[in-house]
Amino acid sequence: MKTPEEPDWLQTCDHCGGAPTAFGTFKSSTVILIGVSVGTQLGDFCRDCGIAIYRSAQKQSLVAGWWGLPFLATPIVMTQNKRQAERFLRLPPPSYDDGPVPEVGERFGRPLPMGEPVSRSPALIVPIVLGLLILGFCCGPLDFYP
Ligand SMILES: [Zn+2]
Repeated sequence: MKTPEEPDWLQTCDHCGGAPTAFGTFKSSTVILIGVSVGTQLGDFCRDCGIAIYRSAQKQSLVAGWWGLPFLATPIVMTQNKRQAERFLRLPPPSYDDGPVPEVGERFGRPLPMGEPVSRSPALIVPIVLGLLILGFCCGPLDFYP
């Protein structure tokens, strides 16, 4: 029996029609004041499309996931995404040997551009600057001069 960890050669990518695929659920969190909204993209994706969706979800969370009280949802969502992405990193590059897949139409053979890795994304600046600002307010110079 096939486990979810193994690449699926029968299923084709929901975006570009390539194979093999893995099933992925990628979430992005948007936190505003006391509300949190979690966007979900799920489906069977090839390596390239899966990584592209993963990176896009992580960058969205990095920018939008810190602006309110439920900000702790953001690292949880990002950790879950990272675990999912590891399966896609182990897939071989997509191949298109079985011919066009009607469901994907024009997108056949054109996986999503993977973009920059999250670790090199300018989106990282948002939580770093916010963290420094909060540190500054909590333990900044004002505390030293009562
Ligand atoms: Zn694809």
